[in-house]
Amino acid sequence: MTAKNFSKVQKQLGAKPAKWAKYVKHNKPKEREFGYGVKRCEFCGTTRGHIGKYGLNICRRCFRLNATKLGFKKLN
Ligand SMILES: [Zn+2]
Repeated sequence: MTAKNFSKVQKQLGAKPAKWAKYVKHNKPKEREFGYGVKRCEFCGTTRGHIGKYGLNICRRCFRLNATKLGFKKLN
């Protein structure tokens, strides 16, 4: 199971403390400090098409939808 789905497992096993403790001990995904999975879109949470320029931290799709709201202007 990937880091993405860890919250789903927590939801399922949260009611069973002993099983949850065992799961965390053996299967908890590593907390990342750098790399592909750290940079996530602030709107939709995807790691793909990330734009970090100007401190945006959003993906290209969300940028396209929200560019005018963020103050960007198309000049052509
Ligand atoms: Zn996005």
